[in-house]
Amino acid sequence: MRKPIRPERLYLDFDGFFASCEQFRHPHLRGKPVGVIPMKTGSSCVIACSREAKAMGVKNVMPINEVYKKCPDIVLWPQDPDLYRRAHNEMISEINMVVPVDAVKSIDEMTCRLDPSQQFNPLAVGKEIKRRLYKVVGPWIECSIGYGANRLLAKMACKDSKPTGNLVWAPEDTFNILINKRLDDVPGIAAGIKKRLFAARIWDMEALMNLTPNQLRGIWGGVSGIRMWHALHGYDIQAEPTKRGMYGHSRILPPSHRTLEQARPISRMLLIKAIRRMRRDNWRANRLTLGMYCISSYGDCGWSKSINMAGYADYVGILERVEDLWRVARQEVDPRLSVFRVDVNLSELKPIDVRQLDMIEDDDAKRRELEGLSDALDHLTRKYGATVVTPGLWVPPPGDHAGAKISYTRIPRREDFN
Ligand SMILES: [Mg+2]
Repeated sequence: MRKPIRPERLYLDFDGFFASCEQFRHPHLRGKPVGVIPMKTGSSCVIACSREAKAMGVKNVMPINEVYKKCPDIVLWPQDPDLYRRAHNEMISEINMVVPVDAVKSIDEMTCRLDPSQQFNPLAVGKEIKRRLYKVVGPWIECSIGYGANRLLAKMACKDSKPTGNLVWAPEDTFNILINKRLDDVPGIAAGIKKRLFAARIWDMEALMNLTPNQLRGIWGGVSGIRMWHALHGYDIQAEPTKRGMYGHSRILPPSHRTLEQARPISRMLLIKAIRRMRRDNWRANRLTLGMYCISSYGDCGWSKSINMAGYADYVGILERVEDLWRVARQEVDPRLSVFRVDVNLSELKPIDVRQLDMIEDDDAKRRELEGLSDALDHLTRKYGATVVTPGLWVPPPGDHAGAKISYTRIPRREDFN
């Protein structure tokens, strides 16, 4: 494996992206501590906050009562995922003018490969990106940029440079920088791995950096340990390709809509959005899961049930199956409980052109017909945008964004907002 002698990777992460977008869009929020909340009423936590709020000790994902204790003057502002999506696209195209974006890691993080001439002076690349972004969004949306021999090291340098930084981890210095970091600073060392490291009497980064690849393989329990060793030791290692595992949506229900019967139509809307995305990416699903998180004065509890399907890719079939799950839910979930959150998930995906016949149901002709109908529905939705035709009732609950909820890992598309 190749070991670069210059920083070849750039990692860029926007600082307080959601709150910054709101401050850019709404000038009266500028300079104020802002906390972005999931919906206008009934939100119980802040999901993102501005630098002014951070300076007062507010953190992303913090219960609102705690937020008020730290920062009584905070302005709570409902999320606007479509704004973040548009800002994301705008920023990407600006960055692309300086250096091609190689991988979008989340709505506010991306990485680029520096070309050989840029590797001699990476800081100039970051300066140029920042200059271009400043011209578009002024000082309101800022980013941090890090450079390293590979993506993991560039990401760590980026985090090290926050906020608003531009920092190179030169390959020859990286070992010495790393031995002074904490285990928690390494992306990929979460609670589970940390426990195993402690069990192996590895208490700090210096000890970790002095292990062999095979020792890491033992601790990680597989080749991912070897990959981690190479990444930490500055080899040019590509991230593992992520396999598409599932399509799901979840939604915290507004306080006025927390009964089982009110949760049901919301789950159907979420499911229609998930099916639409899955179909657009050419998959069919073999498994459907319905889940709920319920709260009561006696304590909280989760409920979830899955059902197998023979490779469904049509709206009618999948929506019928979720009704089967709701019949079970009505028997198993105490109706006095308050449904706080509902989730739907399509998983065990197969490419859409791989058909699987169900010997028992013998319904291939019906499935083909329903898939044809689904194609027509998707075509109308794409063409006329809004919900011109929907499979069944479409009654959005109060508060917006049934489908395109805020997400750090998935970039919503325009169609998600229909
Ligand atoms: Mg960020």
